Amino acid sequence: MSAPAAPPMFDKIALIGIGLIGGSIALEARKRGLARQIVAATRSQATADTANKLKLADHCGTDLAAAAKDADLVIICTPVGACGEATRTIAPVLKPGCIVSDVGSVKQAVIADMAPHVPKGVHFVPAHPVAGTEYSGPEAAILDLFQGRWCILTPLPDSDAKAVDRLEAFWKALGSNVNRIDPADHDRVLAITSHLPHLIAYTIVGTADDLGGHLNSEVLKYSAGGFRDFTRIAASDPTMWRDVFLNNREAVLEVLQRFQEDLFYLQRAIRWGEGDKLFDLFTRTREIRRALIHLHQE
Ligand code: NAP
Repeated sequence: MSAPAAPPMFDKIALIGIGLIGGSIALEARKRGLARQIVAATRSQATADTANKLKLADHCGTDLAAAAKDADLVIICTPVGACGEATRTIAPVLKPGCIVSDVGSVKQAVIADMAPHVPKGVHFVPAHPVAGTEYSGPEAAILDLFQGRWCILTPLPDSDAKAVDRLEAFWKALGSNVNRIDPADHDRVLAITSHLPHLIAYTIVGTADDLGGHLNSEVLKYSAGGFRDFTRIAASDPTMWRDVFLNNREAVLEVLQRFQEDLFYLQRAIRWGEGDKLFDLFTRTREIRRALIHLHQE
């Protein structure tokens, strides 16, 4: 006889925002039986209609507070700049003991925006699943998005230990590996590993487009390899990425400064024919790629 199925981890999960991340959480949590009920709410009726058509959650509406009412776990899945306002809207209906979390790609600014609205007795545990695609909206939601990917929790000094453990168990049940780090460290690490690469991709594609004239069509025609990869990243959602840069300003400006210095170093090496400098750096970076593949994060 097989063992009885484990009871769901939560009675009701509410997702505020149901695009790529919210929708993928809904699909995965349903598949794995992590909640008795999964509801969602979003800003526009059109997105709610699409989410309902795709059956991402049990129901999706446009009343954020109605979705959050009686939930045991509420996850804000809106762009970073909307997290504070969404929390303010749902705050009056939050059940005591409920966990409020988010998935924002920036942590310090989101914490500063959300924390003041979280009522006493409700447990705020910020989180960031480091998983995604260049697609957005409910149609982009997929199963297995979080499988084998990191989810970073950035608990606050006064976060309830049991709530942090429960959220960690939830993300593990979605297939993620979970780590806990300080919000400021999160923002510095993500500035270099994710935010700067997106900024570079947006810049390169814009620069190529500015070449104009007949060169422009040649660029598109021969866009194999490197440039093609950049166009994929540069297709990422404009609202989400505008909010990321505006909300992780200090960390992004710091790594951008260092990046510009390193770029000048390469520029100088090319001008003066210092091939050894180029070769040494390219050798070092190849090793980094090999180490990454070894860690299965390629
Ligand atoms: P998305 O696909 O564009 O979905 C965003 C959702 O938020 C939509 O349902 C949208 O609703 C809703 N929304 C936008 N503004 C709102 C507001 N003011 N009030 C209520 N709902 C609002 O975005 P996503 O890619 O899922 O990203 C969501 C969050 O996950 C962001 O904070 C992002 O930093 C983080 N994240 C993204 C990735 C990634 O690769 N995309 C990875 C990890 C974390 P409407 O369509 O109705 O406007």
